[in-house]
Amino acid sequence: MKRYQRICALSIAIFLLAAVLQGCARTGGVREYSEDIFALNTWVNIRIYAGKNGPDILDKAIKRIEEIESRMSVTIQDSDVSRINSSAGKQPVKVHDDTFEVIKKALKYAEMSNGAFDITIYPIVKLWGITSEHPRMPTDAEIQDKLKLVDYRNVVLDEKGKTVYLKEPGMGIDLGAIAKGYAADEVARILKEEGVVHALINMGGNVVAMGGKPNGKPWRIGIQDPRADGVQRHIAIIEIMDGSVVSSGDYERYIVDVYKRTGKRYHHIFDPSTGYPANSGLMATTVVAPYSIDADALSTTVFIMGAEKGLEIVEGLEGIDALAITLDKKIYASKGLKERLIVTDKEYELQL
Ligand code: ADP
Ligand code: MG
Repeated sequence: MKRYQRICALSIAIFLLAAVLQGCARTGGVREYSEDIFALNTWVNIRIYAGKNGPDILDKAIKRIEEIESRMSVTIQDSDVSRINSSAGKQPVKVHDDTFEVIKKALKYAEMSNGAFDITIYPIVKLWGITSEHPRMPTDAEIQDKLKLVDYRNVVLDEKGKTVYLKEPGMGIDLGAIAKGYAADEVARILKEEGVVHALINMGGNVVAMGGKPNGKPWRIGIQDPRADGVQRHIAIIEIMDGSVVSSGDYERYIVDVYKRTGKRYHHIFDPSTGYPANSGLMATTVVAPYSIDADALSTTVFIMGAEKGLEIVEGLEGIDALAITLDKKIYASKGLKERLIVTDKEYELQL
């Protein structure tokens, strides 16, 4: 090796070593760990910045998600939810504390939205089967028949005994619009308990941000283009240090072959006043809140109620913001979000 080459190689090595040392000093031996799993019917990604015990922390978080799924899934046979549903009209069912709390919260949002958000929607969900292997368009008679069973006021909670009772035989609950939010909050709680400062949790569009990025900048959460047809593409960005950003929309799950034939989307968020997919003029909603359970319930609620009524509810809630995207690509946002929202697609027009 010629002399100048040696000097060159040596200085490159020193430079690299310095960079590595500097990197370690800056992060204090903390590095990124990330894991993807499929749970609660969606892809979940947890990204954390931690020391050597990063993988153990991720394991603990994932175990908790699986525990929540085993209690709150409507398709797992011995879950709390399945046991509640199969005892409808028969007897109260003792459930785990977490299931009880999630149902209690769901009923609070049912009251607040005058029944637009209603977990007793399950008979309708099952009838359409949008998220199942065999979705179909039911007849109007079938819909009216099942609609009789939908009424959150027929859910009876006993705080002391931690039991849940559905008054009418045939009734059923589905926590699909709120359980992911709860699970994301639980992951954040565990991460904090384990000393994690910076993390990003994404449960199929239910995002929880913790502590900003390791470089001190806020996390940037993309709002998915509701008409990108399966492609990941954002139309706006929300910057956030801590808190949750949750989206709902007509683009996530719908009857694909009917859409291909007719251009109409029969999607998975139902209006309990009609038994049909909500048709409030929106294609998507996003809610920003300190806790993901609230953001999850509210993104579904605003989607059903529409921009005007939905945002009115959100304006009345301290520390919570929302946006609603209409079918003609207008973005309506609550006061607190209007100034923060970074719209990146010219086709979408923020209404001031
Ligand atoms: P996603 O689960 O796709 O993120 P949502 O949080 O909006 O979307 O939840 C949609 C799910 O909520 C549906 O798949 C169904 O299980 C349930 N659901 C549908 N309509 C309602 C409703 N009016 N109130 C409460 N839950 C609903
Ligand atoms: Mg929801």
